[in-house]
Amino acid sequence: MSGAVPSPRASGSWASGEGVRRSMVSNRRVDTGPERALRSALFQAGVRFRKDFRIECPNLKVRADVAILGPRIAVFVDGCFWHRCPDHGTNPKTNAEFWAEKLDRNVDRDHRVNAALAESGWTVIRSWEHERSELAANRVLVALGRGVIAEAP
Ligand SMILES: [Zn+2]
Repeated sequence: MSGAVPSPRASGSWASGEGVRRSMVSNRRVDTGPERALRSALFQAGVRFRKDFRIECPNLKVRADVAILGPRIAVFVDGCFWHRCPDHGTNPKTNAEFWAEKLDRNVDRDHRVNAALAESGWTVIRSWEHERSELAANRVLVALGRGVIAEAP
């Protein structure tokens, strides 16, 4: 579940500015760069998976960014802004109350999703959008009991 917020790598003060604010408000579901990179790393490692896979948990509908159906591994690439990354999460000053509530709800939902998936027998792997795709892919490979892939220099 990632938003259309530009990567913190792309610009310094990325939560300010009208264009960025608009894209935060739209909260579109997009196939973000970090998700694509993770999928491509997994695919190259020979992992077969479904993307944007809907998982029905008791009382909760979940969409995993990547789902490996056999061993039941659900992978999420969390946007730094939307999921309050400890390194890049920000509290917008405009409409502060609205954003605080919304982001708190997101984090709360993440916890409920983790718990519901675990109860349904899924292993949950979360990575941040700022993480290198090789590291996220390696966590998946470890969960699969596979050797890790070499990191790009
Ligand atoms: Zn981050």
